Amino acid sequence: MAYTMPTAIRNYNKDGRLEIDWDDGHHSVYSHEHLRVTCPCADCRGHTPDQAKVITGKENVRITSIEPVGHYALQIAFDDGHDTGLYEFSELRHGFCQCPEHTARESTGGGEP
Ligand SMILES: [Zn+2]
Ligand SMILES: [Zn+2]
Repeated sequence: MAYTMPTAIRNYNKDGRLEIDWDDGHHSVYSHEHLRVTCPCADCRGHTPDQAKVITGKENVRITSIEPVGHYALQIAFDDGHDTGLYEFSELRHGFCQCPEHTARESTGGGEP
């Protein structure tokens, strides 16, 4: 199965916002805080769900670098010194996305429009 690939990545450190356009036409938006507190690295997630850390107080965290890893993920570094998070494209596209479409779906519970 082919991965959905980013066609454009725009980072707005002033607003703490990251935007990614995908080759399937989807337009994703993320806050830096959201990406930091949902960091998928082993240190933050632990090896089992009950080991996962609850990360708080990152309202003002900012991304310092975004490096593509192979053709499947982005490695994102934050200004709190944390840089081990590998964000897979599939997770960014479907799991982390905070675009109006995705957030509306969550808050209405998939009910009638
Ligand atoms: Zn982490
Ligand atoms: Zn979305």
